[in-house]
Amino acid sequence: RFCQAGMLYRPTREKDVEVLKDYAYKMLKSTGHEEISLSSLSSSDYSHLRELVTFLIDEFKSQGINISLPSLRIDAFSLDVMGQVQDIRKSSLTFAPEAGSQRMRNVINKGLTVEDIIGGAGQAFDGGWNKVKLYFMLGLPTETEEDMRAIPELADQIARRYYEIPKDQRNGKCQITTSTSFFIPKPFTPFQWARMYTNEEYISRAAIVKHAFNEQLNRKSLKYHWHDAEVTVLEGVFARGDRKTSEVIKEAYRLGCLYDSWSDQFDNEKWMQAFENTGIDIAFYNLRERSLDEVFPWDFIDIGVTKEFLKQEWNHAMNAEVTPNCRMKCSGCGVAKWKGGVCIESKN
Ligand code: SF4
Repeated sequence: RFCQAGMLYRPTREKDVEVLKDYAYKMLKSTGHEEISLSSLSSSDYSHLRELVTFLIDEFKSQGINISLPSLRIDAFSLDVMGQVQDIRKSSLTFAPEAGSQRMRNVINKGLTVEDIIGGAGQAFDGGWNKVKLYFMLGLPTETEEDMRAIPELADQIARRYYEIPKDQRNGKCQITTSTSFFIPKPFTPFQWARMYTNEEYISRAAIVKHAFNEQLNRKSLKYHWHDAEVTVLEGVFARGDRKTSEVIKEAYRLGCLYDSWSDQFDNEKWMQAFENTGIDIAFYNLRERSLDEVFPWDFIDIGVTKEFLKQEWNHAMNAEVTPNCRMKCSGCGVAKWKGGVCIESKN
């Protein structure tokens, strides 16, 4: 529900595995590159992943071609292939539970349970890994302090799973690195109506999480980082901005803002000055929950998914109700009109 790509790129559809194999041959031959990287938003959902990865390893590994994998859902197969292509001692595995509590994961419709996470991490630890990276968002709609505290608790549970391995069979201490970013609502998603928070409110949320990390049993094995809140506020304005916000960008540039995504170049004071000079109010864009009948600047673009469906999903989110994925049941999002992909696959 938070993910724009998950709405924009509907319906799910797959590329023929023979086409991908052919691309790999042709690209290596015509470019001279020495690495093949599989990149997609959710590679584990590709039904021919096993065949494709096995093919790439068999065909190219012996020629010194490096195979690089995206973060896969952790299961026996993924660990096996990752073990074949990475140095386990050096590499870390990445999980993106996105939210710490099950209630919050239901709100965002992320179908991942604590058993999935601990089970996956456990398999990885048993296979020799001892480093795990975890990604979460703070400031999601309906978030409570309990949801925030669930993040360090989950990290600690993962560390506990590691220390269940008998000491003589462990690969030293484990290292669980948790990063949080602040949630930014995006157009064309069920969360496009959501409110955001002020810089200070974000910092205090991160402080709650930081504090709760210090209370955990395995705190020495846990590290916590959070994403900058000042940049989040700016991203929030421009993510759902209208034509007026272009004036702020022009004014910020005039004041000397350039290369802002390099943190050493980013100057928040200048940006705040630009808002003041142009009379654009950050609160109007970030701090109010939009009403369901508000007309948005992007409403004239038809992405296929209907606004009615997004509203319905927003209401489900408010009640922490999960919507099944398209392979289990069609929820009538609107893109079936294109008669492709998962919409026309037979469903039982
Ligand atoms: S129309 Fe149904 S099956 Fe197709 S993408 Fe939308 S919800 Fe999924």
